Amino acid sequence: MSLVASPDAMYRLLIQSVVDYAIYLLTPDGIVANWNAGAQRAKGYSAEEVVGRHYSLFYTQAERLAGCPDLNLAQARQTGRFKEQGWRLRKDGTVFRAHVVIDAVYDDDRQLVGFAKITRDCTEQYRAHMAQREQERNFRLLVQGVSDYAIYLLDTRGHVASWNAGAERTKGYRAEEIVGQHFSVFYTEQDRLGGLPQAGLDTALRLGRFQAEGLRQRKDGSHFWTSVVIEAIHDEDSGELLGFSKVTRDMTEQRGYEQALLRAKEAAEQHSQEMAGLSQFLDSVIANIPASVIVQDASSRQILLANQQAERLFGGQAASMIGQLPEQCLPEVTASYLAQQLQRGALNDRPFADESRVETALGMRTLRSRVLRCERSEGQADYMLFVAEDATEQLAAHAQIHYMAHHDALTGLPNRTLFSERLKQALARGEEQGKLVAALCLDLDNFKNINDSLGHAFGDKLLRALGKRLRGELREHDTLARLGGDEFAVVLTRLDNREAAYQTARRLIAASGPVFRIEGHQLSIGVSIGIAVSPDDHTQAEQLLRYADMALYEAKRNGRNRFESFHVELDVAARQRRLVETDLRTALHLGQLQLHYQPVIDHRHDRVSGYEALLRWQHPVRGMIMPMDFIPIAEETGLIHDIGIRALNLACQEAASWPGEQTVAVNLSPVQFRDVNLPNVVALALADSGLAAARLELEITESVLLGNSEENLQTLRALKALGVSISLDDFGTGYSSLGYLRSFPFDRIKIDKSFVHDMCESREAMSIIRAITELSNSLRIKTTAEGVESTEQMRRLKAEGCSHLQGYLYGRPVPASERLMRLQRSQE
Ligand code: C2E
Ligand code: MG
Ligand code: MG
Repeated sequence: MSLVASPDAMYRLLIQSVVDYAIYLLTPDGIVANWNAGAQRAKGYSAEEVVGRHYSLFYTQAERLAGCPDLNLAQARQTGRFKEQGWRLRKDGTVFRAHVVIDAVYDDDRQLVGFAKITRDCTEQYRAHMAQREQERNFRLLVQGVSDYAIYLLDTRGHVASWNAGAERTKGYRAEEIVGQHFSVFYTEQDRLGGLPQAGLDTALRLGRFQAEGLRQRKDGSHFWTSVVIEAIHDEDSGELLGFSKVTRDMTEQRGYEQALLRAKEAAEQHSQEMAGLSQFLDSVIANIPASVIVQDASSRQILLANQQAERLFGGQAASMIGQLPEQCLPEVTASYLAQQLQRGALNDRPFADESRVETALGMRTLRSRVLRCERSEGQADYMLFVAEDATEQLAAHAQIHYMAHHDALTGLPNRTLFSERLKQALARGEEQGKLVAALCLDLDNFKNINDSLGHAFGDKLLRALGKRLRGELREHDTLARLGGDEFAVVLTRLDNREAAYQTARRLIAASGPVFRIEGHQLSIGVSIGIAVSPDDHTQAEQLLRYADMALYEAKRNGRNRFESFHVELDVAARQRRLVETDLRTALHLGQLQLHYQPVIDHRHDRVSGYEALLRWQHPVRGMIMPMDFIPIAEETGLIHDIGIRALNLACQEAASWPGEQTVAVNLSPVQFRDVNLPNVVALALADSGLAAARLELEITESVLLGNSEENLQTLRALKALGVSISLDDFGTGYSSLGYLRSFPFDRIKIDKSFVHDMCESREAMSIIRAITELSNSLRIKTTAEGVESTEQMRRLKAEGCSHLQGYLYGRPVPASERLMRLQRSQE
């Protein structure tokens, strides 16, 4: 039966009406035999247009060229069916995805009658399918490629089912190592013991999702901080549990950041607390600092802050300054001062500092102020900060301290400090002007005695009175200073020559001459002056002063109440003195000091009544040095105390060894009288040596009595009380006054050798000798004439009634050993 020839009506109707499937028949050689509605719908051709045409027109050109239509029919012919999905052409040239089935149709005789072809347009499904495939592929690629996250699946019991690159990277296992293992290997032992892995799965099961952070373990045993999400996966249709997805992220770094952030936050919080505390502290500091603080808005000029001090200093009134303009709340002068300061501050980049005398509510004050501009955040006007310190008292105190530091409290004259400053200034200026500058050192003669006898208060008055007189002799630009004690000094500036300095010195000496009347006493005083001139002598202040001092020393040596100018020899002499001083100390220790003895003759009994002990210095280099060349230096340096004790002890010891009752006379320096212990020293020397006190004579000079010093007289009396004799040496020189003889009961007077030397030529010398001997005889005091060199002198002195004689005529001073030899000879 031919299908075409005898189609069942119903069946054909059905086929014809099917619209979703193109159903049509092909002849054995591929010609379209019939056409249904579905075919028309799918391919766009009507039955008339397509029936009778070869079905290859539905194929794309590429497939046609490849012979696909025939090949497909051939397959259907051979196998009974050809089935494929492929692209087919519509009438309008567009393509659609077609699901094609070609069935070979045979008649009852197994003869091929044609092909039944069923084509379904499945473009939509195909596209959807393809899209899904693409999506799945992408997703897989994505999951596997993700390296930041460990993404893997677990089966229902928690065994690892899949493994991505991120997992490998995070945990260190490769897929083949880990798949199949239980995921608890990622947990720390502690967590495992705590049942944490299962608890996670349970939660995911219960809630669908488990999320946590925690410490996990890598393959190598190291730990990392991680964020974990476990989700349960169920079959959509049956709801059956398929397993779990697990996404883990290594949070080590993030956790580091977080913790750092946390720490920073804590620090910031603490800092802000501190800041709050600090700001509170600053508030109270501002309120309480002893400075006035005002803050002004730079543009509105409104006062934003004024502390108590500021209100007290400027405001004065009860009303607060805050919120006002300076001119609204302050007196005019104060407001304009403040305005001026703030304006200057505004013009300056740096803080503006100032010191001014200002009329304030507290009176005229010196304010030391600083103004500075403080920048505020953008858009806000700047602050002007004004801080002022009331420096009035401080400056006054400074001025006072400065004055005190530079002036002598007693006389109000400049002191040593100011003197040095003035001298330095004068020297610098003198150099510029080509003028001379002189430094004068002044010293009162015997001021110590005045102080000692009339008291310090009296001495102070004298110094003040003298200061006034001296100042009166100087020009405005000269400086008179008191350096201490009775030492004064002068700077003379703008001198044309040295003579000008000498003239001033003469005037100063003359001015101090007239008697001073103080507290009912009348007394006159001498002044010695040393002068050094710059630039001739020296240009440095210190050295110039030292030179003036040397000149002063010279003036005193040369007889006091005079001036002396520096010359180089003085410096040489001063050096020499210093050398002697050091040498002398050694001499004392090494026993280079010896005593020579000169006989004293009692001519009435024609015998040696005793010996005078005279010091000699046996210098290893310079040979024998005479007392005049070292005693003054010993006196200046105080060494005379030790030397005196040495001489005393030595003389007593040697005299104690002499046979007979001869006396020994020891010279005492006036300086030794400053030691109140002197009587003890003498008593000890006697005790140590065993010498009878009556055999010791102590020789003193008039200067010991000068100024009628009560202390010295007491010492003398104490000495005499020991049983020793006291002689007045060198009588007739210096201040010679017969009055001294009445002040103390001397045992002996020694007439100075200068009178003996002159007696034969000078009537004056002769008459002095006569006066002394007469007075002495009447007072029953022994007299010794010193320096008797000739028989003529001896004869006359005897005639004048001198009891004792001493001089080269009878014998020169000789060492103790020689003295003994001569003694023995004279006794022979
Ligand atoms: P002085 O106490 O007046 O001693 C007498 C001085 O005259 C001695 O000088 C003596 O050598 C010297 N002289 C004695 N006879 C003659 C003479 O005929 N012609 C001349 N031209 N001179 C004669 P010297 O030893 O140089 O002593 C000088 C002064 O040194 C002493 O004068 C005395 O003031 C002092 N002096 C000596 N020894 C000491 C001492 O141990 N202690 C103290 N403090 N002063 C002493
Ligand atoms: Mg003497
Ligand atoms: Mg003498």
